Amino acid sequence: MINSHHETQQQSAGGIPLVDENGVWICLNPTSIEKVKDITSPRPALSLDRDGVINVDVNYLSKVDDVELHDGAASMISQANKAGIPVVVITNQSGVGRGYFNWDTLTDVQNEIAHQLDKEQAYWDGVLACPYHSDGISPYKHDDHPYRKPNPGMLEKAASIFKIDLSKSWVVGDKADDLKAGINAGLCGGIHVSTRFQEAEKEKEKADDLKSSDFIVKTVNTVREASQYLPLINTD
Ligand SMILES: [Mg+2]
Repeated sequence: MINSHHETQQQSAGGIPLVDENGVWICLNPTSIEKVKDITSPRPALSLDRDGVINVDVNYLSKVDDVELHDGAASMISQANKAGIPVVVITNQSGVGRGYFNWDTLTDVQNEIAHQLDKEQAYWDGVLACPYHSDGISPYKHDDHPYRKPNPGMLEKAASIFKIDLSKSWVVGDKADDLKAGINAGLCGGIHVSTRFQEAEKEKEKADDLKSSDFIVKTVNTVREASQYLPLINTD
């Protein structure tokens, strides 16, 4: 399904990571990929930003010891797992593009996050990470890469892999650009969590401004509140 240019050395808890033909890091849960073969019609998915939603954003997270899950993140993911909703992690990782760390380091961090989620019976179906940035170094310098959020490339790629109906899907993010990527991919709604140490208020206002008749925006203060609101897993 994916042409691998380069398979990274380590095996991830969530699957074997590879860097695809577009230079994007992809890690697919083998069980989820097996199950997707039986899916006949597109279904809604939960798209999660990583830093600031699943784990605490420490700015260019590159140390396993710095991995700390946000309260409520694992339960949000496990509820989606139980409801049969695919969970795709869509993350800009310009730290790779800027040369701060490499894919193997990212894989180590991903493994630790997956391990901590696993302790709470939560797993992701897939992860896509985009290294491109206007301040990146070759080959990752790109002023407006179609995969870098707020562009919809990673969401569209995830949709084709997991047979996702984007128009019924939701995004949770701590930046307005996370929600904007959702709009650009045709999602139905987004939840903004104000977990950012700085700029939380500014990002919340920017996210709130994205509200429209086509896109629902909910702003909350914590990841737990996001999981309590998320329509995909709160159907009663
Ligand atoms: Mg974030």
